[in-house]
Amino acid sequence: MRIDLHAHSNISDGTETPAEVMAAAAAAGLNVIALTDHDSTDGWGEASRAAIDHGVALVPGMEISCRTEQGISVHLLSYLHDPTHPGLLEEITKAREARLTRAERMVTLLAEDYPLSWDDVIHHVAPGATLGRPHIADALVAAGVVADRSEAFTSILTSHSRYFVQHYAPAPALAVELVCAAGGVPVFAHPVASARGRVVGESTYHDMIDAGLAGLEVNHRDNPEEGREFLRKLAAQHGLVVTGSSDYHGLGKPNRLGENLTAPDVLGRIEELGTGTAVVR
Ligand code: AMP
Ligand code: FE
Ligand code: FE
Ligand code: ZN
Repeated sequence: MRIDLHAHSNISDGTETPAEVMAAAAAAGLNVIALTDHDSTDGWGEASRAAIDHGVALVPGMEISCRTEQGISVHLLSYLHDPTHPGLLEEITKAREARLTRAERMVTLLAEDYPLSWDDVIHHVAPGATLGRPHIADALVAAGVVADRSEAFTSILTSHSRYFVQHYAPAPALAVELVCAAGGVPVFAHPVASARGRVVGESTYHDMIDAGLAGLEVNHRDNPEEGREFLRKLAAQHGLVVTGSSDYHGLGKPNRLGENLTAPDVLGRIEELGTGTAVVR
């Protein structure tokens, strides 16, 4: 069984439609794929139909952007939650609206120094998709300012950049609580990915565990090996599941489907815990 529990479509910052991601999952020899777009479940319907056509099982999911009181970014994966749960829906709607205002402010700042307009950015966003820095990166690539998204993220678009603007994001423990309330299974995504910015200290893990955290995404290319050892110990101490995933974004990142996998018994545990919706098979 080849199980990959983290992939993005153009419902957020992936470059392929949900149906194309399901086709790519089948072509990569996966048996199970989770669609985890940022702050959106709008891809679930299309992905469900395509997953059945392609003979892959779909775990409906989402990746929620959170921020601690210290300003540290945390990504929380949610599996099998009820997409209509009012409390969770309210938070992600608020975050998505804030992402729009934030992107407009970033584009205004960038336009002072680079050939970039709001229309150039929107050109790279599918209708209704969750807007993020990757879409601004795509417009900068098209304008010839940077070669690819990765170069944009190591230069103009880092969180220390003078063009960077924050957007509203819930506290990690609140997001964990809401995912649980919606019958979902919360898993901390790439927790020790230090190349993305500051990572959280032990107290944040404990806040999230107290709120109902179910797992840690240990096997992800952005987690350095030293950090993985810490995560495995923490998971063993607190009875958390350990997952492995690609974080596929189509052509938007080098990450390939199936480059990290999750064990079948872990998927079994996630299915036991998740009551908001079911795996599509
Ligand atoms: P935002 O949520 O708008 O602040 O943008 C962060 C998103 O950018 C994350 O979800 C990542 O998927 C994406 N990202 C971060 N680093 C890179 C990179 N080096 N190349 C491509 N995408 C990236
Ligand atoms: Fe992303
Ligand atoms: Fe992430
Ligand atoms: Zn992701």
